[in-house]
Amino acid sequence: MTQSSLRPALIAALAISCGEKVPPAPVKPADISSLPAYAQDIWKDVDASANPCDNFYQFACGGWVERTELPADRPRWTRSFSEISERNEEWVKALLEAAAETPDQGDEDWKRLGTMYSACMDTDALDTVGIAPLQGYLDQIDGAADLTAMSGVVGQLHKIGIDVFWGGFVEGDFVDPGLQILHMGQSGLSLPDRDYYLADDETKAQLRADYVAHIVKTLTMAGIASEEDGQARADTIMAFETALAEIHQPREALRDPTKIYNRVDDKLPEVVPEVDWKAWLAGMDGAHIEHISVDNKEVFGKVGKLLAATDHAVLQDYMRWALIRDTAPLLPVAYGDAHFEFFSKKVTGQEEQSPRWKRCGRMVGGAMGEAIGRKYIGEFFAGESKDTALKLIGDIQNAFEAGLSDLSWMDDVTQQRAIDKKNTLVNKIGYPDEWKNYSALEVTADGHLQNAINATLFEHAEVIARASKATDRSLWLMPPHMVNAYYHPLLNEMAFPAGILQPPFFDAERPSAMNYGAIGMVMGHELTHGFDDQGSQFDPEGKVRDWWAPEARERFEERTGCVADFYGKYEPIEGTPINGQLTNGENIADIGGARVSYRAWKATGDTATVPGLTGDQLFFVSFAQGWCSLAKDEYLQMQMASDPHSPAEYRVLGTVSQLPEFHQAFNCAEGSPMRPAQQCEIW
Ligand SMILES: [Zn+2]
Repeated sequence: MTQSSLRPALIAALAISCGEKVPPAPVKPADISSLPAYAQDIWKDVDASANPCDNFYQFACGGWVERTELPADRPRWTRSFSEISERNEEWVKALLEAAAETPDQGDEDWKRLGTMYSACMDTDALDTVGIAPLQGYLDQIDGAADLTAMSGVVGQLHKIGIDVFWGGFVEGDFVDPGLQILHMGQSGLSLPDRDYYLADDETKAQLRADYVAHIVKTLTMAGIASEEDGQARADTIMAFETALAEIHQPREALRDPTKIYNRVDDKLPEVVPEVDWKAWLAGMDGAHIEHISVDNKEVFGKVGKLLAATDHAVLQDYMRWALIRDTAPLLPVAYGDAHFEFFSKKVTGQEEQSPRWKRCGRMVGGAMGEAIGRKYIGEFFAGESKDTALKLIGDIQNAFEAGLSDLSWMDDVTQQRAIDKKNTLVNKIGYPDEWKNYSALEVTADGHLQNAINATLFEHAEVIARASKATDRSLWLMPPHMVNAYYHPLLNEMAFPAGILQPPFFDAERPSAMNYGAIGMVMGHELTHGFDDQGSQFDPEGKVRDWWAPEARERFEERTGCVADFYGKYEPIEGTPINGQLTNGENIADIGGARVSYRAWKATGDTATVPGLTGDQLFFVSFAQGWCSLAKDEYLQMQMASDPHSPAEYRVLGTVSQLPEFHQAFNCAEGSPMRPAQQCEIW
């Protein structure tokens, strides 16, 4: 062990023992009914009988977990995200119903919203239309007699969002982010992860059997397969997907930007000679694209060989199946129900289907997000909201810079470069400056499936046109009413839609420790993504370039390795540990985000709190309560196999375990469960 890696542990120990007065333990007031509403909300959800140093999640969320029931139409429910999105869904419903009832009382987009929603709600019309709008695609698949002919059809399917064989998206070039290129990557599996095909355990084996039964049911329903040949054909589809899964890399292998960028441009045919790439590009209106990267040439080469080695009739069946699979929720009700029974109930554990109005609200929200968002911000993000959010972000960024000089492991030159990167970062708050123009989107009253296809084509046309052109920095990747946020490494920008800048994440009327603990931590989290195991490989302009001094990089990697190892010891489900590599960036962002937000709050000098907690304690409780959650076991399994975020409970436990500021706030003794010996100080 080097001397430098010993230092953080020493600093942490000193901070606890030297001159700092011991904070009082939290005490729940005997009568909370006379407290302000925000203080009641805090105490209502705390389990005051739990020791915060033994299990902080239980302390902060135990009351909530006890009094909350997982809604039957959700596989997971979170105190913050889900409560806001539920509220938003009710609001969207009222908006869309009004648009449907009074189409003449607004502009063309108002009419589109109402028509699209009504068409979705009209299940009788769905049954009448059947799968007719898919017939053209099914005919094309029938007619594609060999791989060359099939290539163009794959392009047509990709254009309407059907996930077959491989995937592609238009994004900045990793070396020249000012140019938009086509990035191609592994894709085309129906189950949530390759592990679902390959894992040798009983649960997965049962799920695979259920999956094949679901294919038989659906293809028979569509008249594609018969009772006689359905089973055999579903088996061969499953065998093909399994072969594809074997070729795919595990998700964590796709996290390193230096390993998933391989410009091939017009040399793609040399990597995969089996496919007619010109026909594929033309099929998805991408004939103009000159700049193409594949995530892994070897994987693509193997996919090409698999296609050539597979009976062509099987490839056609796989395409037919994928077409029905990805459109099932838009088809007559029986298809949507069957889809739910397998992909939601069996795979995620969700017990009941969401009411149709919710599904239709989500569909319209996905198709015309900015038209809804425009109305949303008028109601929920007016007045000073934008300025308040910008001030918070400014505080967080300042705290990040101030904290760099305390880092024992980073040299001055690299520190200055990190400050440069922070200073170049662009913030997007609330909603876009310019709204999307939907005038080219055709919507009809009796064509739910066709409306959805039109919306995907509309979106696709916009995206594909960007390829091989200069990057437009004004775009938003989330609609304003979404309860989420993102950091984009190629643009070095953060975006916080209006949807997340709401209570319980943010409320100007409560102590600032609560706002910094909740939304401030989210902002710090996104900022830290610019400096996590992945983001740290992008320079201030978004180029993948090593801007670190070699020694600093080495120490940084020791620390990211420490975080991966630490989280990898958690077992949310017995026998299934967290994948420390896959979740590394999110875990680093959680720890760094909470710490930087804590510093930012300290710098405000605002010590207001709620009775029974010190300001510091309130900060950490507010952070943790953002992640109180309930989830089905099936959902947890899926999350751990496919999601780069650790399960919510462990996001809380892992973060506070790694923060000396937390240990001090609750006076946790060395070696207590929330203050383990393994400390990995990064940001
Ligand atoms: Zn994140």
